[in-house]
Amino acid sequence: MNRRYPRALLTLTSCASLAIVGTLAGSTPAHATYYSGGMPKRSFSVKTVGINSQWVKYFDTGRKNWNTAGVGANIKRKSSAKPSFTANRYNGSWYGLYAPSGSRPNRSFKIQVNARTIDRDTDSISQYDKWVRSTVTHELGHGLSLDDNPNTSKASLMKHSRNRSTVQKPLAYDKSEVKRIYT
Ligand SMILES: [Zn+2]
Repeated sequence: MNRRYPRALLTLTSCASLAIVGTLAGSTPAHATYYSGGMPKRSFSVKTVGINSQWVKYFDTGRKNWNTAGVGANIKRKSSAKPSFTANRYNGSWYGLYAPSGSRPNRSFKIQVNARTIDRDTDSISQYDKWVRSTVTHELGHGLSLDDNPNTSKASLMKHSRNRSTVQKPLAYDKSEVKRIYT
């Protein structure tokens, strides 16, 4: 269990911290949960790269979790899209990575999900499935401008401390934040 602490730190560093400072400097500070590496709109397309049909299914579950959340999101899967989603057994200690590129309105991103660490830290196929779905949906949350570990006592899909077996979809707090950010 204590292995989770450094992993969360690593994920935080690689996920979100790089892009925030420059954008917010000199402007009114955004709410603590805002992540400036997200997409300019709630509607965007993503291509899947180098993954089998099972992983395409995981990705589809993740985007459907957002598309059916009632937050105005419309995440499509499209082979000509620039943003990409992939998965592999990476050496890194993280479960998932979201790396933005370019600036709005031409923002793109690359999501990677680490089958190795999720496999290592789960005890059954059922638990593995849940953790993968939780990770995929979490990473897409960054595409919707949600930051890691929002400063709230409310439960959130974006918290690294969430229970990945039970929290796989956006929670009430996450939904209200996406609506607030994109109004
Ligand atoms: Zn994250």
